[in-house]
Parts: sequence; structure tokens; C-alpha cells
Amino acid sequence: MKYFGAHVSASGGVENAVSNALSIGATAFALFTKNQRQWLAPELTATQIDTFRRAMHDGGFNASQVLPHDSYLINLGHPDEEGLQKSRESFFEEMHRCELLGLDRLNFHPGSHLKRIDEEGSLKRIAESINMALDRSTGVTAVLENTAGQGSNLGFKFEHLAYIIDRIEDKSRVGVCLDTCHSFAAGYDLRTREACDATFAEFDRIIGFKYLRGMHLNDAMRPLGSHIDRHSPLGEGEIGWECFRYIASDERFNDIPLVLETPDESRWAEEIAKLKDFANI
Ligand SMILES: [Zn+2]
Ligand SMILES: [Zn+2]
Repeated sequence: MKYFGAHVSASGGVENAVSNALSIGATAFALFTKNQRQWLAPELTATQIDTFRRAMHDGGFNASQVLPHDSYLINLGHPDEEGLQKSRESFFEEMHRCELLGLDRLNFHPGSHLKRIDEEGSLKRIAESINMALDRSTGVTAVLENTAGQGSNLGFKFEHLAYIIDRIEDKSRVGVCLDTCHSFAAGYDLRTREACDATFAEFDRIIGFKYLRGMHLNDAMRPLGSHIDRHSPLGEGEIGWECFRYIASDERFNDIPLVLETPDESRWAEEIAKLKDFANI
């Protein structure tokens, strides 16, 4: 089955994400389980957990259709001890929140070396950070997102993600989220069927489809290899519709959340309808 949705608002309570998803015809969604610009959040109450779980059930969603995203402040590859500790603690808390909500995966950007340590040193820290979080939690998979490679962000090469995965002790709880805009900005072409074939073959060779736990469907405002992370509405950027038609009709992308992070929320319902059309659902 194909599950399409968007990164919806959870303001006013995590359960609101479910109704926001339903209102745009989504069968998948992404959300922040806390304010993404703050380090700390109050613990989820039993009532909040219960309300969210009931909304999920009533809305017909199971955990495999939901891709929670962690806070943008977290940097699991931080060069400094203090920043690293703070990130690790916060990441564990986010994993724990997912666990409480009955969610089974947490999507995050791998991390940044901030030009103070080398790439490999930072990648090793990221792997160690993930191992620590997995040790302290159960049932939640750490889902590494590929990046555009803007600034000192790591994860823009499939090899970076493979390097991290290789160092994870429990490989059943590590996965990948591919963002189409980030892939394209990082230099992986997706403009034609042939380009998609080649890019996803490379993904399969270096990382493996068995690790794919979700996707972000975004068109790209900037040209191939720009390393600039700017999303466009589907079909209006440099990638174009063919890539989204390809993903919607290819079984390798079944049974995972396929989530829009396109800039114009008012068009999500229309974009989802078009994707469902491509998938014949
Ligand atoms: Zn993304
Ligand atoms: Zn992005």
C-alpha cells in the first residue's frame, strides 16, 4: 500500500496532527512531538498519550504511517562535549516520547561537524549517539535523513549514511528517510525515469532498500548539486512531476510514510490527490 501525507501541525496538542492529516486526505503524516525550536518540553501526560493513541486508532493510522521528526537543535555529531551531551539527552527524550505515543520511528538529520572536527570524526560521534539512544529505549527506529549538504551538515552522500549504519549495533532499529529535494541538491538526479532508476539503484547498492523507513517528497527550488535546501511545490521545481509519478508507482516505496514538506500548505490536499492518482488509489 502507498501512504501519502504531509508534515502537519501539532500545535495545541499532538492529537491535532491526526485531524490535520485527515483533513487533507492524508494516509500518512509527519509531526513534531514537541516544540522543535526548544530543548526541553514538559513530559507527555497520560491524558495526552491516551488522546493521541485514540485519535490514531479512530483515524485508521498505524505507526508505520507516521514519521515523527526531531528538533532542529539536536546535533548528534557535535564537535563540543557540551553540545554533544545536550543533543544526546534531547534525542533520547524524543525517542522516549515516540515510544509513549506508540510510534515506531524517529526521523532526524544526522548532524554537523561545524567545521571544527573532520567529517569522519563527526560521523563516528553520530553513530555513537544513536547507539546510546537505542540502548536506552525500545521499539523506536532511528531514521537518518539524507541532507542537501548545506553548510557543514553531513548525510548528503549515501556513503555517509552507510558509514553510520555500519557502526550501529542493533541494525533492526536504524533506518533511512530519503528526501527528494535533498537528494537532488546533493547531486543525485531525479528528473527522468532513467535518472530515478540510476539514483535509486545507487541507493540500493550503497545503503539498501531494506533500510528505507520513509520519504520526504519535495520538489527543489535550486539546480542539481546546488547543496541548497529549498523546497518547491511538486512539479514546480527543478525536479518535476516525473520523479513523483515514479515513486508513486514503484512498489519499493510501499508501506512507508511518503510525506510532503512542500512550502504551500494550502496545496497539500491537491498534491496528495495527485500522488494517489499516480498510485491508482
Ligand atoms: Zn526532509
Ligand atoms: Zn529540506
